[in-house]
Amino acid sequence: MTADPFLSLRNIYKTFGSFTALSQINLDIARGEFICFLGPSGCGKTTLLRIIAGLETQSSGTLTQGGRDISRLPPAERDYGIVFQSYALFPNLTVAANVAYGLVNRKTPRAQVEARVSELVKLVRLPGSEGKYPSQLSGGQQQRIALARALATSPGLLLLDEPLSALDALERVRLRQEIRALQQKLGITTIMVTHDQEEALSIADRIVVMNHGVIEQVGTALEVYREPATPFVADFVGKVNVLPGRLEGEHLHVGSFRLPARERVDTARDVKIYLRPEDVLARPAVSGAGFAADDPHMFEAVIEKIEFLGSFCHVHVRSDAFHPHRLIVYLSLNFLSEQSLAVDSPLRLRLMPERMRVF
Ligand code: ATP
Repeated sequence: MTADPFLSLRNIYKTFGSFTALSQINLDIARGEFICFLGPSGCGKTTLLRIIAGLETQSSGTLTQGGRDISRLPPAERDYGIVFQSYALFPNLTVAANVAYGLVNRKTPRAQVEARVSELVKLVRLPGSEGKYPSQLSGGQQQRIALARALATSPGLLLLDEPLSALDALERVRLRQEIRALQQKLGITTIMVTHDQEEALSIADRIVVMNHGVIEQVGTALEVYREPATPFVADFVGKVNVLPGRLEGEHLHVGSFRLPARERVDTARDVKIYLRPEDVLARPAVSGAGFAADDPHMFEAVIEKIEFLGSFCHVHVRSDAFHPHRLIVYLSLNFLSEQSLAVDSPLRLRLMPERMRVF
């Protein structure tokens, strides 16, 4: 993080009556960053976005944006554009009038407004739509216009509150790529709220993972995926196998394996081991081209269930090594068909102990 963040949140708390919605939120966002607030329903991500927008007031704590203390400023005096989940366009105004709304409020000269509107509708790839009404546009088109409206006054900060969640899967992916491209082109600092981990992983420079009103971890997609700071993050971001284990002296016991522990423990304790499905490697059990026979991390398994998901399948396996716990591994469709693998087929698997997270 740069020494001079664009947006700083310090010790933000928010209570609704006796309910604490946000607790001890500290966050620095650099100029030009794309940040996602990611978390399950009710974790407080929308409340935090609304506090940044001044639509909600924090119970305590301070916010600075561009070096200015905005903690107590009303929304109109802050410098942001916002897009909401449901299409919040004015239904009785044309696309042009919707996009122009903020500019007209600022008493921008008419010729300038027209030029800016036409530039913005081109930017969101809907040129020629100026005379249409929102009801004549698809959901994705309405969100593009909402985006144009949010960007019209060239704000320093773009806030997106689940802008894609009402769209169908294809449109969601298309629009998220467009939002990212647009954000990079304009270099605008952006915060997007989402509960969709794939969306956050694919779009954000950094992800703020939230749960029960606190920040669990802040990191790049790779960091939160590969090095989750807490069991919640490991579980919420991506799929994971959770196995019971025990740390004892210099060893980590999991299933029938005794692995070297990262560090020695004086008092033995039960732990949970988090292992991503792709961190269990597969080889066919029958052909010779497998792992070395004395590979200490190898184990035999049997396929119990195959979930077909396209190029990769989620394969549920059982193994004496982990009895009674099941594992999920990812296998490519090509691998499954080349090896003629199906339910009840034997399989040789290998753990990647360096990828295990122990909590
Ligand atoms: P979602 O994805 O469902 O919108 P979220 O993570 O955005 O979830 P928030 O909308 O920020 O969650 O809400 C956080 C918690 O604060 C929830 O438990 C919610 O019920 C509560 N809450 C939010 N606004 C209010 C309010 N005005 N009065 C009372 N409780 C509120």
